[in-house]
Amino acid sequence: MRTLAVLGATGSIGANTLDVVARHPDRFRIGVLAAHRSVEALADLCLRFRPDLAVIADEACEKELRAQLAARNVDCRVGAGPAALVEAASGTDCDTVVAAIVGAAGLESTLAAARAGKRLLLANKEAIVMAGPLLLAALEQGGGELLPLDSEHNAVFQCLPGARTDLTRAGVRRILLTASGGPFRGMPASALAEVTPERACAHPKWRMGRKISVDSATLMNKGLEVIEAHYLFDAPAERIEVLVHPQSVVHSLVEYVDGSVLAQLGNPDMRTAIAHALAWPERIEAGVAALDLLAVARLDFEAPDRATFRCLDLAYQALRAGGSATTVLNAANEEAVAAFLDGRLPFLGIAETIERCLEGAESAPLNDLAALLDADLTARRHAQRIIAGPTVRKMHTSTP
Ligand code: NDP
Repeated sequence: MRTLAVLGATGSIGANTLDVVARHPDRFRIGVLAAHRSVEALADLCLRFRPDLAVIADEACEKELRAQLAARNVDCRVGAGPAALVEAASGTDCDTVVAAIVGAAGLESTLAAARAGKRLLLANKEAIVMAGPLLLAALEQGGGELLPLDSEHNAVFQCLPGARTDLTRAGVRRILLTASGGPFRGMPASALAEVTPERACAHPKWRMGRKISVDSATLMNKGLEVIEAHYLFDAPAERIEVLVHPQSVVHSLVEYVDGSVLAQLGNPDMRTAIAHALAWPERIEAGVAALDLLAVARLDFEAPDRATFRCLDLAYQALRAGGSATTVLNAANEEAVAAFLDGRLPFLGIAETIERCLEGAESAPLNDLAALLDADLTARRHAQRIIAGPTVRKMHTSTP
């Protein structure tokens, strides 16, 4: 029986995780459920899954959470604030932590789970993008294991001969990450100037939170995944390639020196990757329909349009620069995506903001969390100045 802490329980990954968990009451129990501000949704989940501890990251919501739990006759401990989140990830009797908070807000709890030697099921890709070396060191120190929930990385993991594979010794030539291409695949830059958050969030294949949906539309999601793959599989940038695959059936591939290419296929449903990581090395039923290859009929692949969707190359640029560059990239992207979702920045302003932040930043080595958080804050302030400044606003109003 595994005991889980689900951080980001009220989100899309949280819901998919709890769906798989509910199918296997003999294997999993919920020790911790955590959210940011969705008090009612969290209280409903507590009623259903009866955790030992419920954590609300926004301290201002603690009283309301207690009231909502009492109204449902749920008797569990309550924690509030970022420190409670860290404690939930590391100090409880949970052996497995599902890191499904969106953005940099998930960093400290993810690091804490790694340091505490938990089985870490990582969805929170921003944590590894902004702090890859620190997260790997924390894992080493804790002696736990990391299993990727991101469908592409989970697919790569499944196509490798084992955990912590040395790619060269295993004869791996390249890792091929697939991308759906997002809702704007095939559109020219001129048509992207006026796109709305609603259109950007209407992903053709996956139902996800708003931030990752926008990342998917800009191709930054794939850029973040290239960096994630670099850290997870110890693969240099030149051995990680991106292929657009609109059907989203092949979740990623590994090419070997003998010419073999192994792929993992399945319906686009996050429960497959989640079930794989929850039960690894065993397999469990995930509630996902069998893949009907006759219905799929064809699998298309094309090169990404790097000129229109510039975020992909910006991510490669940051990865090659090393040091704090991926922290800067992530911070600038989070600020730009939040501004786009708020109507303060045009879609094309996202790439421009990130590019200018990367140009203006020094790629300093990151030796500790304090230096990393400092680089993150500096980049966010820089991005906020760019977003509020005249150039990006002009782009917004002068495009046809
Ligand atoms: P959602 O927006 O659906 O959910 C985000 C979750 O994080 C919610 O539970 C939210 O709580 C919580 N949260 C947000 N801010 C904070 C904070 N400051 N402190 C604590 N908790 C917080 O996101 P997704 O589930 O789509 O994505 C989660 C992560 O998984 C992201 O890093 C994403 O890139 C990654 N991922 C997602 C995939 C998907 O299919 N959705 C696929 C692969 C990776 P509240 O509800 O209270 O706001």
